[in-house]
Amino acid sequence: MIKLTKRQDEILQIVKQNGPITGKEIADKLSLSRAALRPDLAILTMSGSLDARPRVGYFFNDKIPVERQVEKFLHQTVNDYKALPIVVGKSTSVYDAIVQLFLEDVGTLYAVDSDGQLAGVISRKDLLRASLGNQNLNELPVSVIMTRMPNIITIHPEETLLEAAKKMIHNHIDSLPVVKEMDEQKNTYLLVGRITKTTITRAYIEIMDEKSD
Ligand code: ADP
Repeated sequence: MIKLTKRQDEILQIVKQNGPITGKEIADKLSLSRAALRPDLAILTMSGSLDARPRVGYFFNDKIPVERQVEKFLHQTVNDYKALPIVVGKSTSVYDAIVQLFLEDVGTLYAVDSDGQLAGVISRKDLLRASLGNQNLNELPVSVIMTRMPNIITIHPEETLLEAAKKMIHNHIDSLPVVKEMDEQKNTYLLVGRITKTTITRAYIEIMDEKSD
């Protein structure tokens, strides 16, 4: 934060209370000319304390500066944003999985074993592909069509949202199961959450909307 002069501080207070307000109106309140005020307004706008819109005027910027937004975003962990995973058993039929997808309003389901161990990922396209054939969808278990371990891309709760975003983009997938190791040697993972592309967007919007104190 830059140190403000007394006049700059006065301008800030005026804009806080009256914004949006034009440069001329601020000048009138301080009994100064518009020209005398110009350097101060330039400094306050450049430092991000004030925002200016053509034909609207100056208003107080109560959002945190962009550099700090980015800094904050880089430190967010998967654990703080993970949502509940929607799970089905491996023997659930494709028909029931489609119904579940609509009921839960999600794009991806996770198949788990009886002990909560992650077994598979079932996405919209997996279900559509299975529906294109003439199979009886009530008889076809999701275990036949799902993406299985060890091909599942996972993320740990302590990893960052940026890492999650990179994994989704690089692997062309919409979501990641959040897992904790059950047995590293055997590649077994306990499913504890999910992260989607929407999660990343929501996190960024929340940070952008945060007010500075
Ligand atoms: P959609 O089918 O709605 O486009 P995705 O892009 O996420 O959803 O899925 C594309 C394919 O990638 C599907 O076959 C799905 O099973 C698979 N998939 C989805 N998520 C993962 C993941 N985390 N790890 C490995 N494969 C995945």
